[in-house]
Amino acid sequence: MLSGPWKQRLIRYANTGTDNRLLMGDGLKSPTIILGRKILQNKTMNPTFSFHNKIKGEVRYDEIMSAYTSMRIGGPADAFVLPANLKDLQLILKHRNHTPIHILGEGTNLLVRDRGIRGIVISLKNCFKSVKRPVFYKTPDGRERAVVQVGSGVKLSYLAKYAARYGLTGIERLVGIPGSVGGAVVMNAGAEGTEIGQVLRSVTRVTLDGNVQTLKRGELTFSYRKTSFPPGNGVIIEAELDLEKGEVAEVHRTMDDHLSRRGSTQPLNMPNSGSIFKNPPDDKAGRLIESAGLKGYSIGGASVSIKHANFIVNKGNASAENVVQLIEHIQKVVEEKTGTKLEQEIVIIGE
Ligand SMILES: Cc1cc2nc3c(=O)[nH]c(=O)nc-3n(C[C@H](O)[C@H](O)[C@H](O)COP(=O)(O)OP(=O)(O)OC[C@H]3O[C@@H](n4cnc5c(N)ncnc54)[C@H](O)[C@@H]3O)c2cc1C
Repeated sequence: MLSGPWKQRLIRYANTGTDNRLLMGDGLKSPTIILGRKILQNKTMNPTFSFHNKIKGEVRYDEIMSAYTSMRIGGPADAFVLPANLKDLQLILKHRNHTPIHILGEGTNLLVRDRGIRGIVISLKNCFKSVKRPVFYKTPDGRERAVVQVGSGVKLSYLAKYAARYGLTGIERLVGIPGSVGGAVVMNAGAEGTEIGQVLRSVTRVTLDGNVQTLKRGELTFSYRKTSFPPGNGVIIEAELDLEKGEVAEVHRTMDDHLSRRGSTQPLNMPNSGSIFKNPPDDKAGRLIESAGLKGYSIGGASVSIKHANFIVNKGNASAENVVQLIEHIQKVVEEKTGTKLEQEIVIIGE
């Protein structure tokens, strides 16, 4: 007989809209049928962590991740934690007992698999939200620039608009990227020739043992959709950007033009996670996928967007498995037809 919390947990799994057999662990001797789905349990989870009652923020168990990803896909996370501040984050990291952690920004570049995430998901939705007033300075050759200090939980689009108010130029073409500053730093997010790495002055992270560490620009390496950090993972909590003073009207005009271009070329009215593949050198992944005849091709509820072939859209009932199969199919067909192996841009996590 299942205990109340376990039963609830299994019902939530059953509701995630995934396939009929869900492998959960080996605690159950025989499969259990809940809501018509066959469920196997293969581990015994201790549902509480010692930080649970110590933090100001929230801890939720078996939280369905589809609510936190722009693709609207993803099974449950064992523990979903929303720290309220730095102290909470340090407590979580220190008291997690080696449980694996996953950091969630706005979930706009993530595909979470259907069986969810084993371990702790730390969501920065409720913390590191401040943007400090720009600090202006003059360069030796007389140009005006400003340093902006921003929390990693701030949305990149908000930051771009904030900088524009001061006529600061350098991130106006990042205004249409829907993620957080932390996610943008990790992914070296970019658009139309601008990448966030070009304007980063420093990044502050909390290391996995809870220490705060500021990394100068020279300690980071930026490449296409990737920032490399010195050894030791961590949670990015803050960034400093160094931006040039321009004209307020000009910066706003660039942002508006950029947003209207995106609106007319991207399927923004359907759940998606942006570009699925990196652009190969001197080419576009979208052009290759379209030339392979795959626009509109679907597996289950996942479909290659008609509007932009490098986007996969969730037509409403897609599972992560559908998306993964579609990614593999696109890679296979494009390689057969064009000789190019497309490299995945989105991050896939979970099981
Ligand atoms: C409609 C649409 C358009 C898009 N257009 C673009 C585009 O033009 N250019 C572009 O580059 N991207 C684009 N993207 C992808 C995405 O928005 C970016 O990659 C964005 O920077 C991801 O930020 P996020 O907060 O959503 O990160 P998430 O998706 O939550 O996470 C991405 C990765 O970063 C890690 N991470 C996030 N925050 C932190 C943190 N604070 N500390 C440590 N690790 C962290 C996560 O663990 C994960 O590995 C688009 C996405 C969508 C849906």
